[in-house]
Amino acid sequence: MNELSKLIRFGNRKMPKNVAIFNMAPAFECPSERLGMCKIPDKCYAKKAERLYPEALPFRRRQQEYWLRVSPERFACEFIAAIASKKTKIDFLRFNESGDFHSQACVDKAEAIAKILKSVGIVTHLFTCRDDLDFDNAKNLIVSGSNCIIDNGFYAVKDAEAHVAQALRAGYSAAVCPKNCSKCGMCHRADKKMIFVEMH
Ligand code: SF4
Repeated sequence: MNELSKLIRFGNRKMPKNVAIFNMAPAFECPSERLGMCKIPDKCYAKKAERLYPEALPFRRRQQEYWLRVSPERFACEFIAAIASKKTKIDFLRFNESGDFHSQACVDKAEAIAKILKSVGIVTHLFTCRDDLDFDNAKNLIVSGSNCIIDNGFYAVKDAEAHVAQALRAGYSAAVCPKNCSKCGMCHRADKKMIFVEMH
């Protein structure tokens, strides 16, 4: 068992088991919030988990510590070895159920990992509030902007249908998130689409 195999999880309440999840930072130490770039720090689900489950914050701190020192090559090798014994075929690596990029170096590292994993048929995806970073060279990593468009953009709103209609009228490509990731996959396309999710 390698170091990374103890630091990845598979699926959660919203994502199916063929998605491996790894966090660059805990929610309570999120770089986006520290920089004032998160629009909904008080509604963060990842923070809720860290409040409710005492093991969540130390686990995510261990992920962060590993992330900041690992090379992309080692991460990708350990990842491929870690998923080899899984009964479920892993199709996706999802970064950052909590946290965000710390810096441009994290974008470059995630892109290098995505490039290696793409060669073995795995899509690497994440959400970010860090539209201050440069994604021009991130050709393999799929990046959904939170309240901004990068490869696509994800917006939590009160009335998703009304926002889609408004965006379409303004000439954007837009759709409502059906909240069914195993059947949808809209977030994994770099089509500059605005995706609206109903906020409760
Ligand atoms: S748009 Fe589709 S893939 Fe993205 S979060 Fe919603 S259901 Fe999941």
